[in-house]
Amino acid sequence: MDAEIIAIGSELLLGSTIDTNSAYLARQMAAAGVNLFRKSVVGDNVERIAATIHEALARADLVICTGGLGPTLDDVTREAVALALGRPLEFRPELLEQIAARFAAFRRPMSESNRRQAFIPAGARAVENPRGTAPAFIVEDQAGTVIVLPGVPYEMRFLFETAVLPYLRDERGVSDVILIKTIHATGLGESVIGEMIADLMQQSNPTVGISAKQARYELRIGARAASQAEAEALVAAAEATIRERLGRNIVGDEPLAESVARLLTERELTIALYEGTGVAPIFRALASAPGGTERLRGVMIHPLDRPTDEHASASLAHAGAISAGDRWRADLGLGAQAASSPDASGFTAVSVALVTPEGSRQVTRRYDLHQPEGWEFVGTLALDLARRYLLGEAE
Ligand code: ATP
Ligand code: MG
Repeated sequence: MDAEIIAIGSELLLGSTIDTNSAYLARQMAAAGVNLFRKSVVGDNVERIAATIHEALARADLVICTGGLGPTLDDVTREAVALALGRPLEFRPELLEQIAARFAAFRRPMSESNRRQAFIPAGARAVENPRGTAPAFIVEDQAGTVIVLPGVPYEMRFLFETAVLPYLRDERGVSDVILIKTIHATGLGESVIGEMIADLMQQSNPTVGISAKQARYELRIGARAASQAEAEALVAAAEATIRERLGRNIVGDEPLAESVARLLTERELTIALYEGTGVAPIFRALASAPGGTERLRGVMIHPLDRPTDEHASASLAHAGAISAGDRWRADLGLGAQAASSPDASGFTAVSVALVTPEGSRQVTRRYDLHQPEGWEFVGTLALDLARRYLLGEAE
């Protein structure tokens, strides 16, 4: 089954409300095995909403709309669906009773405009909304099926899960399972990873995609099958290949900072940081994980106060890691120091050092620190140095 989503509301076009409903619906449809081909956002205008629905139905079997079911005159989704399908709106006394009962339960007076919410396109099936006033509805038309849900996110989610999913499964035979698994990796360039798994990225089931964020990679495996077990088998096979090819560059199911925090806990080790800049990139990276700073004993922040070249920055990172470790009697000292200025190509040398009871290890790389995200690469580099040590990897 091919589907499209239409999010309705001028506030979404103005950017004052972020369209989280579409993202939720997209994830849900993927999980249910419905192909989603397009998402649209349209303002509170009857003709434009009707035209959008009409166009979507020309391409897809199923159109899910969210928003614009409220009682006020700017909520026009009911009228727009009726217009798109060429059906009149029909008054449903039982819907008015449900709405009145909701108001009675809230002990609030119902206003005349709530009557509007008891109108739905002729022949539509109403879906009671126990979380709000606006009933949702489903219209099965020759042109395709239109499902209309309220815009308030928690009402929309509730109705999707309790009414729309059962409808799709039981009455429309939607049964495919789509399974998405994310694996985290670091330590290689995006293009290198891309080349290592190029064949997997070209196949269509399971699909494999990469997204990169400051040298941290998320590899997403998506498999589609008639059953959960088959989908799991497809994912497992792709995952095994990826793990074999990327080896220690695979961080695992959890992001880098979480993995380091977990390894510190498991090995019962504490850590202290030396940051040669007020940006404190290692602390930021570690603190991004839930519980990431649990094994952290202290952070020494010491912005540069003199010109420092690549060689000097390497010694400062190393000396800083030692002092931070000593100062807080931590098992590990991890330090980062950038040179004071970029080289002719615009890149700045950054050195990262890890001091452990067994000795120390160090790496130097060049980053574009003009862009604010540049520092995040430093955090990634430092945490990966710690991760590899904690895993017992030789230098
Ligand atoms: P109600 O019966 O409560 O009026 P409704 O169907 O008319 O529901 P809207 O008026 O379109 O819904 O939106 C109600 C609120 O829900 C908006 O103010 C907005 O905060 C939120 N909302 C609407 N659409 C979306 C969306 N696509 N993503 C996230 N939030 C949304
Ligand atoms: Mg509205």
